[in-house]
Amino acid sequence: MKITILTMFPQLFDGFLQSPVVQRAIRRESLELEIVDIKEFAPGSFRHIDDSPFGGGAGMVMRCQPVLDALRYVKGEEGGAPASFTVALSPAGTVFCQKTARRYKELDHLILICGHYEGMDERIYRHADEELSIGDYILTGGEIAAMAVADAVIRLLPGALRDKSTEEESFENGLLEYPQYTQPAVFEGEAVPEVLLSGNHEKIRKWRLKESLRRTLERRPDLLAGRILTEEEEEFLRELGTAGETKELLRDLKSGK
Ligand code: SAH
Repeated sequence: MKITILTMFPQLFDGFLQSPVVQRAIRRESLELEIVDIKEFAPGSFRHIDDSPFGGGAGMVMRCQPVLDALRYVKGEEGGAPASFTVALSPAGTVFCQKTARRYKELDHLILICGHYEGMDERIYRHADEELSIGDYILTGGEIAAMAVADAVIRLLPGALRDKSTEEESFENGLLEYPQYTQPAVFEGEAVPEVLLSGNHEKIRKWRLKESLRRTLERRPDLLAGRILTEEEEEFLRELGTAGETKELLRDLKSGK
């Protein structure tokens, strides 16, 4: 796939472009990554990109012309084929999640627009297919958000990660991942759970599922809401807590609430 990032600060992506996952995806020809400088599309030697907001107020707003000219240039490179999907990064967008990363990974061409200052002229957003936020906080610009989105998508591309599938990770099956351990088996008196040293794959699978459920129940019960439980999962959840909360949750899940 191709990812194009429209930004006023292309140099912020220097380190990102060097990251092993990005480099590997490019080498394996799973990825083409293009960084486009919006400033190149601003007229005059002073590169007039932003202006004060109509109606007054603090800060500056990015003007339509340079951003939309940059977007048209990028889309023009496609030879008019409507193959691209344009995402404007904005704290007012829908919140990014793993499911969205999976959806983007299927695209031929993802275009990410980074805002700056107070944000962008509202009319720019009409040219985007989606407005996307990476969480409920305000960044200085969309660049870090674009890197977060691009990174989450790129690591799902074939050949981007050296080994291991991404299927067992947190959020992939709607649960948080189970705890992981590596050598040594005992560190500063703390031992790795016995079952992981047993070599019994079925026991390990069960332990991992249970720990995933425990973690999700404790830290992110919202992820369990609306989940259709397997019999095994239901049994584990029952074992995990006699707390009223678990019972209530199980009742809600059963009634499909
Ligand atoms: N005044 C705006 C915030 C502008 S922040 C408001 O209150 O909504 C400047 C730019 O940073 C935005 O245009 C956007 O591209 C980016 N940005 C800031 N926070 C973000 C977030 N949580 N997710 C995605 N992009 C964000």
